[in-house]
Amino acid sequence: MRKRSQVIIVGGGPVGVGLAVDLGLRGISCTLVERRIGMHNIPKGQNLAQRTLERFYFWGCVDELRAQRLLPPEVPAAGVTAYKSLMSEYWHIFAGREIVNDFYFEKNDRMPQYLLESVLRRKLERLPLVETCFGWRARSVEQDDASARVTIENEAGDGAPRVLEADYVVGCDGGHSIVREAAGIARQGSDYEQTMVLAVFRSRELSEGLKRFPMQSTYRVLHPELNGYWQFFGRIDPEEGWFFHAPVPNNTTRDNYDFAALLHQAAGFAFACAFDYVGFWDLRVAVARRYRADRIFIAGDAAHSHPPYGGFGLNNGLEDVANLGWKLAARLRGFGGEGLLDSYDAERRPVFKEIGDEFIAARIKWEGELINRFDPAREPEAFRRTWEELKSGSGPIVANYEPNYEGSPVVFGPPNGVSRARGTYIAKARAGHHLTPRKLSSGRNVFEELGDGFALLAFDAQDDAVARFETRARRHGIPLKVIRDTCRDGREDYEARLVLVRPDQYVAWTAEQRHGDNDAEDVLRKVTGVAA
Ligand SMILES: Cc1cc2nc3c(=O)[nH]c(=O)nc-3n(C[C@H](O)[C@H](O)[C@H](O)COP(=O)(O)OP(=O)(O)OC[C@H]3O[C@@H](n4cnc5c(N)ncnc54)[C@H](O)[C@@H]3O)c2cc1C
Repeated sequence: MRKRSQVIIVGGGPVGVGLAVDLGLRGISCTLVERRIGMHNIPKGQNLAQRTLERFYFWGCVDELRAQRLLPPEVPAAGVTAYKSLMSEYWHIFAGREIVNDFYFEKNDRMPQYLLESVLRRKLERLPLVETCFGWRARSVEQDDASARVTIENEAGDGAPRVLEADYVVGCDGGHSIVREAAGIARQGSDYEQTMVLAVFRSRELSEGLKRFPMQSTYRVLHPELNGYWQFFGRIDPEEGWFFHAPVPNNTTRDNYDFAALLHQAAGFAFACAFDYVGFWDLRVAVARRYRADRIFIAGDAAHSHPPYGGFGLNNGLEDVANLGWKLAARLRGFGGEGLLDSYDAERRPVFKEIGDEFIAARIKWEGELINRFDPAREPEAFRRTWEELKSGSGPIVANYEPNYEGSPVVFGPPNGVSRARGTYIAKARAGHHLTPRKLSSGRNVFEELGDGFALLAFDAQDDAVARFETRARRHGIPLKVIRDTCRDGREDYEARLVLVRPDQYVAWTAEQRHGDNDAEDVLRKVTGVAA
């Protein structure tokens, strides 16, 4: 076992393994510590956003990931919402992430989380710089000016504890993170004091009974008594695999509750089913007060916990990886400043805070109020109008979710810009926003040319402006690829002649003029956190 590496990652769920893959591909040595040896088989995060698929594209395993999909390709990630039960006369199909596919290089997808994790674990095996310690539990974490250290113990209990050392430690160890605790990072958020059940089961009769709908991935029930909390069926496969989550009384255990009866009530009919798993979690939205404490970082559920409403957990954890991976590599390779590492917190934390407040908690409240406003038996017309409001509200929820870093100290965002989850989808290249894909004259997409460093898109830009960036980047050891083309055939949509794109495909700086408006040295110093 290697005693020292550049980064130790505690927790080998999807976020920890994703970070190990990202760092390993960037030439950073890391040690991954995960207490489990095998994989869990709980489907969990199924709803994979476009950005998650973009990650797999850049990691070179997007086709392998898509091949894992269990549902037919035409089945959308979205689903049915019904009133009181799935047999109700009130139901509609709500908008899924498909509606913003044009703004990303990869389309969204859907599959059980363990299949995604298995692709990542296989990728890890091909990365010599990553050492894996499966079956080892992190017991303590400490740091000083020189390094960070993690004490680990074998789960089998044989042998003495070992101490691993690194420049940085990243806690990807889930909601009960010991890394977060060791770093003294507190959390804030809402505790709903509501127990939720997660059941995984098989039932062909349920699949048959839902043939009144075109086949969907998910089926949500809004019941007035639940005040906006969902009873949620998710398909695992087209034939018989299902998972279900819903609120249950707080004293529920595996032995004192009739879970089949709950499923039948939510579905609106009785059906035979075989349970594979029943577990519980507490409904909570909690965000860490900071994502960094000197040499220690946290990512994924360790940094933000929340109910699976809207598919934010896994996707945001992997977006943390996209944000942190290149920054750690830049610092360790010498061209990134301390300000770049600080920007991980400045960019990612406000985004998740707003997701928790506005996309999860506010949605529970909004749906709870609407569903209780009228009784369809007594006020059918008024209820029908409210139901229409619920249906038409789902599109804007998806379309308003455009995470961006306009307030980041390492991008040239607008004056008084703030980093947030809410934004607008337009093709214009805007500092702090994800780059919209466009075709190049070669027929290839700009995303196929970006590479893993910075990229300067130069569309009919002046040669000397481009040369200044190339010279300065070379001097500071910043990996920079120049992509030259004309400013037409769709590329004029960027409304910029020069666009500096970060290694995470977010725009850091733009210039409308062919000669660039800023000094290349100033731009590069700021976007690498040297002058932030
Ligand atoms: C029913 C359900 C549906 C969901 N649906 C979606 C969805 O559609 N989309 C979405 O984006 N998200 C969804 N989520 C959320 C998603 O599953 C989580 O956000 C995701 O698993 C977080 O990944 P993680 O790697 O941060 O944490 P985890 O998956 O919790 O992994 C943490 C890992 O750390 C390990 N570990 C913990 N402590 C230690 C230690 N001391 N030493 C060593 N190892 C340790 C654990 O064994 C574990 O493997 C859903 C969740 C549930 C429950």
